[in-house]
Amino acid sequence: MKIICVGRNYAAHAAELKNEVPTEPVLFMKPETALIPKGHPFFYPEHTNDLHYEVELVLRISRLGKHIDRRFAHKYFTEVGIGIDFTARDVQQKCKEKGLPWEKAKAFDHSAPLSQKFIPLKSLKDPKQIRFSLHKNGSEVQSGNSADMIFAFEALIAHISSYFTLKMGDLIYTGTPSGVGPAVKGDRLEAFIEDEKMLDLRIK
Ligand code: ZN
Repeated sequence: MKIICVGRNYAAHAAELKNEVPTEPVLFMKPETALIPKGHPFFYPEHTNDLHYEVELVLRISRLGKHIDRRFAHKYFTEVGIGIDFTARDVQQKCKEKGLPWEKAKAFDHSAPLSQKFIPLKSLKDPKQIRFSLHKNGSEVQSGNSADMIFAFEALIAHISSYFTLKMGDLIYTGTPSGVGPAVKGDRLEAFIEDEKMLDLRIK
């Protein structure tokens, strides 16, 4: 199983980090160990002093595919979940300055908390306009709508599968809207799709 993450997929978020709006999807990966085992707490990682949350809609791939045509991409996922792409922003900044890979900043253990539950796309009011949000200690800090993605789900699947064979169970973190920011020990992060709470995480 692999986790493929999309960077800079919302123009407002690209702007807040002073990045250009990309002309093709920015991709990076996290290993399976980035997930948090069921019932396991999340501990503030020791290698950073600037951990940032990035809330993201997550697709789970439902069938094997390679070089998937955009027209058929919708056949490769049936449900959506929500996750956090935790980022050691201080480490990432150093990587960026030196032109180094991002794994130490993005792919460390437990850097990709994920909702247990996934929602069937068919059951949503409008699967092209999925509202989602993140609350920190009870206040909304991020809110997004999948309609604002620079590259929609189908475009992502087509692009990603031209480089990487997608297997059943692979996860795609589809990018974060604006409002990313720091989380510290003791914070509670709650992620919602529409009005349903999907993920509840305390930082220890
Ligand atoms: Zn992200």
